Amino acid sequence: MTTSRLQYGGSSSGGIAVVIPAAGTGSRMKDSLPKQFHLLEGRPLLIHTITPFLLETKITEVIVVAAEECLEKTRELCRSAFPEEKRLRFVCGGARRQDSVFAGLQAAKAELLMVHDGARPMVTSAIIKRCCRALEEGLAFITAIPVVDTIKRVEGGLVQTTLDRSDLFRAQTPQGAPGTVLIAAFRQFLQHDLTDEAALLEKAGVRVHLVEGEESNIKITRREDLRLAASLLSGRKSEVVPQRAAQKTFPRIGHGIDAHRLVTGRKLILGGVDIPFARGLAGHSDADVLTHALCDALLGAACEGDIGKIFPDTDQRFKDICSLSLLTEVAERVESKGLRLENADVTIVCQQPKIAPHISEMKQNLCKSWAHLPGWPAPDRLNIKATTEENMGYTGRQEGIRCHAVALVFPSDSGMTHL
Ligand code: MG
Repeated sequence: MTTSRLQYGGSSSGGIAVVIPAAGTGSRMKDSLPKQFHLLEGRPLLIHTITPFLLETKITEVIVVAAEECLEKTRELCRSAFPEEKRLRFVCGGARRQDSVFAGLQAAKAELLMVHDGARPMVTSAIIKRCCRALEEGLAFITAIPVVDTIKRVEGGLVQTTLDRSDLFRAQTPQGAPGTVLIAAFRQFLQHDLTDEAALLEKAGVRVHLVEGEESNIKITRREDLRLAASLLSGRKSEVVPQRAAQKTFPRIGHGIDAHRLVTGRKLILGGVDIPFARGLAGHSDADVLTHALCDALLGAACEGDIGKIFPDTDQRFKDICSLSLLTEVAERVESKGLRLENADVTIVCQQPKIAPHISEMKQNLCKSWAHLPGWPAPDRLNIKATTEENMGYTGRQEGIRCHAVALVFPSDSGMTHL
């Protein structure tokens, strides 16, 4: 008996590759669409599978193995989900699962290798970290969970015996080993029909260590597994958001400030409310200074520049436009970056007229402009207040109105696609 630790021990700085076989034909799902393309919560199963590996910085290569007829589609799907990702590669698979895995392993440059089923979309960052640790210790490993059900040996419909479940484990993936160990085992036993990499390693006499798996790390083989995965995912969402937060540092804050001159012959529009007053604000649009400040705060939080850049006052399309429609466009732009507004606080600096009677209607108007975006705030997470500058300065002399806004953004609930 050899051990991977003794033979190949020591830590490696040569990176960690994961090979993800996704060369299935979906025959057990009883339709022509291979299961890796089935949608889970609106995203292809394969994308769910790949995502946590790309979130792990120790993973230096993600090698997706696809059947020849699906290779291009797989590549396009992954490239559109992860356009900036340089660690992704694509390899053409073989006739059997182990042929596909071997093709992927041979394409890897890293010294440490793991294999993960393309049809296990619920793998977590915690599992992946444990697997990386095992590899860094020079171990061959298998992810597994203890059997909790009592197991019976049955023959001819009759129970023969009850097995001692204390030493029984259910195999999951990832499974892996130092590259030299794994590839040698594949070379030696490639022709044998084995169900997983650990079986191959065992056959080669390598000691395979256990890495703790998770009950939810299920393999999707039947249609009902997809429903189970969807319900597990919806339960996990609350955990996923903080995980993304740790990656990208949330919340983010944006600040907006705007001022317009008070003139005769114009309506006074603030937060979409037409406020009765002798004068109104001058501007190319409806000059809704409050909505403009909020737009700028949102754009600031999303690092998307400012309102003047997106809606230039030289463009006739925006002449006298209702600024609430600009806010809708800004909100959609923020949402498309995988972000949602958590709350905003707006201060109007204005000597006259009195603002307080209109605040409730302003909040309703602003919230209506993003009402179609899930998770965006209702009026209870939007604060609008007004102050004067005690007759000082241009607002005090009633030459104009100024508005300040701050906006806090978080990843949107559907934001896993926006890595
Ligand atoms: Mg403005």
